[in-house]
Amino acid sequence: MGGAAAGALMAHAGRRTLVLEKNKIVGGRCTSYEKDGFIVDLGVHLFGVGDKGSLGDVCRRIDMPDAIAWVTIDQPVLQVGDKIGKYSRANMMKTLPKEETDNLGRLFQEMARLTPADIDELWYVPLEEWVNRFSRDPKAHAFIQMIGGQYFRVGLDSARTAEFINSFQEVVMARGSAYPRGGCIAIPKAYLSGVEKYGGRYLTEAGVRRVIVENGAAVGGRLEDGTEFRAPVIISNADIKVTVSDLVGPEHFPADYVERINGLTWSYHCMALKVALEERITGHQLLMYQPYGTEDGKNLERKLSGELLPDLVPGMVTAPTNYDPSLAPAGRQMIFYGTACPAKADWKKWGKVLLDSFFACYPRAKGKVLWHRLDTPDLVNAYAGESGNIIGVGQTVDQIKDRRPSVVTPLPGLYLASAEAGGHGIGTELAADSARELCDILTAQ
Ligand SMILES: Cc1cc2nc3c(=O)[nH]c(=O)nc-3n(C[C@H](O)[C@H](O)[C@H](O)COP(=O)(O)OP(=O)(O)OC[C@H]3O[C@@H](n4cnc5c(N)ncnc54)[C@H](O)[C@@H]3O)c2cc1C
Repeated sequence: MGGAAAGALMAHAGRRTLVLEKNKIVGGRCTSYEKDGFIVDLGVHLFGVGDKGSLGDVCRRIDMPDAIAWVTIDQPVLQVGDKIGKYSRANMMKTLPKEETDNLGRLFQEMARLTPADIDELWYVPLEEWVNRFSRDPKAHAFIQMIGGQYFRVGLDSARTAEFINSFQEVVMARGSAYPRGGCIAIPKAYLSGVEKYGGRYLTEAGVRRVIVENGAAVGGRLEDGTEFRAPVIISNADIKVTVSDLVGPEHFPADYVERINGLTWSYHCMALKVALEERITGHQLLMYQPYGTEDGKNLERKLSGELLPDLVPGMVTAPTNYDPSLAPAGRQMIFYGTACPAKADWKKWGKVLLDSFFACYPRAKGKVLWHRLDTPDLVNAYAGESGNIIGVGQTVDQIKDRRPSVVTPLPGLYLASAEAGGHGIGTELAADSARELCDILTAQ
């Protein structure tokens, strides 16, 4: 996302641009693949503010405002146990004891009241510490973790309060959560069509083996097949640790920078079950499923570390074919069931739990499954590295704002545009914002 967005913005700014992708298909973590006539996304994606955020802004900046056809999400649904209702804060809070509903009510009121200046004071306050001002109850903590986890996939103890409040306000106020026609890959493809429109090129199966450094500056790259190219500006959205240590080489950076980059931590992991159905069994676009009401924080942590695997797991369940029926053969339906998981686990066992959880949501699907498959962290790792974490460098209190790696590296000529450097927002929006931030700097020079 960061690479394609940066490519489009630089090409639009009149720079000769070449985008290089090592995979056969573009998009990295935000991509889609074809299976038996279905277009299947990697993982489960929903775009927090859709066209209204940085993803849409990249299109507007390159004078292609309609390059992505967004479908704004209809009323999402919440299922707790077997009770179904509107996915609203009020309904979610019904899973809590009365006293905690009151405590969290005060927390949400405070979030609505805070001014940008107040929020600025909270950048380095861990979210857990801030939530403690309202409640110390593990269920209330798990509730906030459930919301924050959807955004950033880092722990409550290390998540940054200001980014949580900013993103919450943006998502709630914009009411723009959306999904692109054509599947997730439609977004990077739109940016790459911008690269081509403004005279640039992109190549797939073009892995960079080495960034060429001469006289203390990055000046080009050498591909796996030995081809070399030269450029005054090299932008990487590959794994930041690999970029520094393998593609460039640690000897070209100050020692404290290398140490800092090597010590960065990633966001957590998720996995997703993909189910292809012979017929349409639901009109839901998004269903949030809580099998047991709100889990307490301790159980959630144990589950994330793989210690505990319940019979059913909570899920973010999307039906992409209800946004865009052309993603499946006529009359068929595709449903994704995503959940948090450890980096490594017995995927067979997890696969069974996800399938059971899916059937708990949609008993009607029994007997109608054409095939199902799992996207695990190992698959994400194969596409885009970084141990298969979902977002990039974790948005934790020690890795945010001016504590986050800058889009400008200490090596002249080498820049970063990804969910690993600079930027603000959720996942893909963070990566696109990082590209915006970098291109503003580069085009002002
Ligand atoms: C399961 C899952 C669910 C997610 N859900 C959401 C969601 O709902 N909403 C949301 O906004 N975001 C979501 N995200 C996060 C989002 O997809 C990522 O944060 C974002 O796409 C990262 O973009 P990036 O620019 O950092 O690049 P990456 O996606 O990390 O891509 C890096 C690219 O660099 C390429 N590359 C690496 N090395 C080389 C090399 N040597 N030469 C050439 N190319 C190379 C890789 O092949 C890859 O294409 C999810 C991610 C996953 C995995």
